[in-house]
Formats: sequence, structure tokens, C-alpha cells
Amino acid sequence: MPARFDTAPQHRRYDTVIIGGAMMGSALAFFLADNPDYDGRILVVERDGSYEASSTAHTNSCMRQQFSNEVNIRISRFAAEFIRDFPARIGDDNAPAIHAHHFGYLYLAGDAEAEAALRSAHALQTRLGAGTEMLGLDALAGRFPFLNLDGIRAGSHNTRDEGYWDGGTVFHWLGRRARALGAEYIENEVTGIGQSGGRVQSVTLRSGERITCGRVVNCAGPRASIIADMAGISLPVEPRRRYTFIFDAATPLDRDLPLTVDPSGVHVRSDGGYYLAGCPPLGDDRAMDPDDFSFEDGIWEEKLWPAIAHRIPAFERVKVVNAWVGHYAYNAFDCNAVLGSPSGLDNFIFMNGFSGHGLQQAPAMGRGVMELITYGEYRSLDLSAFSYDRITGNTPFAEAAVI
Ligand SMILES: Cc1cc2nc3c(=O)[nH]c(=O)nc-3n(C[C@H](O)[C@H](O)[C@H](O)COP(=O)(O)OP(=O)(O)OC[C@H]3O[C@@H](n4cnc5c(N)ncnc54)[C@H](O)[C@@H]3O)c2cc1C
Repeated sequence: MPARFDTAPQHRRYDTVIIGGAMMGSALAFFLADNPDYDGRILVVERDGSYEASSTAHTNSCMRQQFSNEVNIRISRFAAEFIRDFPARIGDDNAPAIHAHHFGYLYLAGDAEAEAALRSAHALQTRLGAGTEMLGLDALAGRFPFLNLDGIRAGSHNTRDEGYWDGGTVFHWLGRRARALGAEYIENEVTGIGQSGGRVQSVTLRSGERITCGRVVNCAGPRASIIADMAGISLPVEPRRRYTFIFDAATPLDRDLPLTVDPSGVHVRSDGGYYLAGCPPLGDDRAMDPDDFSFEDGIWEEKLWPAIAHRIPAFERVKVVNAWVGHYAYNAFDCNAVLGSPSGLDNFIFMNGFSGHGLQQAPAMGRGVMELITYGEYRSLDLSAFSYDRITGNTPFAEAAVI
């Protein structure tokens, strides 16, 4: 298949080399290229211009305000703002309005601990202006009469800025505008990082060229730790398998199904006229080869379908119409993003470890890292809690609401 972009860079030196051109790489490239205060040259190196193996290509494309820590809520609020008036934000009147469907997420708590966690997150979300509601059993039964509430104590639901959004179109336009504003994309692979004097000096490409650079940004998704290794840094971000199934129901529900997070760890939501369900592995949730997209035997029959048919008896009779395996870039240390530079190598920058919420985090993360590069500090939203040094200092910054 022919390359989507040129394979050879136009220059021998760039101020910023971004490794990985999917959602995060393109968000950063856009925010840098769009800021007149940044006047450097940008190279985005993408190993596969089809993006076939990227997390971005396997996403479920939802956003939510229901996180457990403040900065993640603020990050998602910016995503909602960013898509609300998308043509103006992206700076092109030809860009489309972004389709969003705010049926919300519905978290179901099956025990006292889970209920307490929902109540505590609800208080925080309310303080920050999110529209989350706590629902007792009567309220759940009234709003979602098709749910089997056996074993459920409470739920939380929010229909403001929460649900499906067309992340694929946003991704397309971030890259398109970044290129129109001068960022250069090549289809090639970074295979080595050269350092001296405590600084990154260059990257080596699969084609053999050596490009000198002012800084390198790691946007390699599930391959992030391979890039970190090239710089001699250990990064606990792993490719972990997540399954998605699209199915048709013989008896469709009479209303939209929010993205319902069951205590079993399975989630299910409306997907146009179909339904989408997803889950982690049946066996160990462990690091995989980033090229391994195989299904586990029994994942649908033994895990997903029994769980959703138990919770929603109308889903006893369903037919799978599509399914895929994607990889989370999973931060095994504390399930949160890793952003910025490690001490001692301040021109190597992480944008990694977004698990199942990186699509919606891309606008705020792209803007934040742009500010860090351009001004040496976060200006719009303080993202310093995501620093790499919390890992070496063993001070986790946990996000409890990871699906
Ligand atoms: C099943 C699933 C469901 C999800 N659902 C949601 C959701 O509902 N909402 C949400 O917000 N997020 C969701 N996510 C998460 C979201 O999709 C990701 O966090 C986001 O797409 C990450 O983007 P990225 O650019 O960091 O990584 P990727 O999209 O993985 O991109 C990394 C890129 O780097 C390139 N690359 C790697 N190594 C090199 C190299 N050496 N040289 C050059 N290029 C390289 C790769 O080819 C790839 O294109 C989901 C993810 C999965 C897997």
C-alpha cells in the first residue's frame, strides 16, 4: 500500500519532533502550529499512515464528566467546549459541526464501597458544575425500566456533555489543520533517540536518516514504553487488550441506553440503531504485544453477553454484527496520564498513558503541552499532577473511574 504521507522529511533539523500522529500527536501539532507565539518547525513522524493499529482507530468515542479527580473533569469540560463551536476552534469555516449524542454514562454501584465512591465523585462533579445525578433504586427503575436491578444499590447519571461524540472527525481535522498551518507529517518510524549532555539531540528513522531536534514528544500510544526505552527511561505504560462488540437486539429498548457501566466490569450503550458493548479480558489483564489483536475464546459467550443479558433481559436475543480488539495505553502505576519531561531530560516530553479516555483528553492535553513547550508552563489548566516524576517518587495520582 502506498504511503499516505511522504516518507522523507524536508529538513535535517526540527524544533519539535512528535512521535506518533494519531489523536494526541495531531492535537499537539495543531495547537503548536495554531499558536503565533510558537514559531518553530514541527515534524510529526507516524509509522503507519493508515493508523490501523492505533488506539484512536479502535476507540468507542465517548466523553464523560464522571471522573474521580478534579483535573480530569476539567479536561473533559474543555473537550466539550472544544467541540461545541468546532469550526471556530479549529479555525476553518469548512469544518463541520461535531455530532454528539449526550445520553450520558450510567454508573451502577453493586456494593457499599462502590456507592460511596460514586457519592464522593458526584459531590466533586457537582461542585465543578457537572450535571451528574445520584439515583436510588426507585429513580433507576423509573428512568430505565428495562434494567434488572438485582445486586444494585445506586447509580449516577449525567446527560450534560456526556455520551457519544464524533472523535474521528475531530481527529481528521486536527491533523488536516496542523498540516495546513505548517506542521510536516511523514510516514516513517522512529527507531532511535540520540542524546548527549543530558539532552535529546536527534531521532533516527527506519529509513536511516538522522534528524536533529530541539525536543521530542512521545505520542506513541500503546508503544510509548518502546520510545521511552530508546531514551533510557522506564515508563509503566502497557498495551492492554479491550474488546468491543456491536450487536443488534431482537427487542430494541424503547429509549436510548446510556453508556451503562455494570459492576461486572462490562459496559454497554446505544450505538445508532445498534448497541455497543465492551470489556477487559476474560483472563489476566496484562501487557500484550502491541501487534497482537487476537480475541480470547469465549469473551463474548462467557463474559460479555451473560453480563449484559443479566442486567438488561431484553438483550437475551441479540446478534453480533461487528467486533474488534483495541489496545489501551494503560498506565499500570496509577491509571492516569503521564505528561511533561522527566527530571534530567527536559527536552523529552511524555504525552502517554490515557487508557480509555484519551480521545476526550486530547484537546486539553494538546493545548497544555503546547503551553509547556511555548511558555515553559501550563497556563490554561495546571496539568502538573501528571508529571513523570510522580512515578519515580512513588506518589500515585490515582484516577478511580477508569472503565
Ligand atoms: C477499545 C477502546 C475504547 C476507547 N474508548 C474511548 C472513549 O470512549 N473515549 C475516550 O476518550 N477514549 C477512548 N479510548 C482511548 C483513546 O482512543 C486513546 O486514549 C487515544 O486514541 C490515544 O491516542 P494516542 O494518539 O495517544 O495513541 P494512538 O492512537 O495509539 O496513536 C499512537 C500513534 O503512534 C504511532 N507510533 C508508535 N510508535 C511509533 C514510532 N516508533 N514511530 C512513529 N510512530 C509511532 C502509532 O502508529 C500510532 O498511530 C478507547 C481506546 C480503546 C482501545
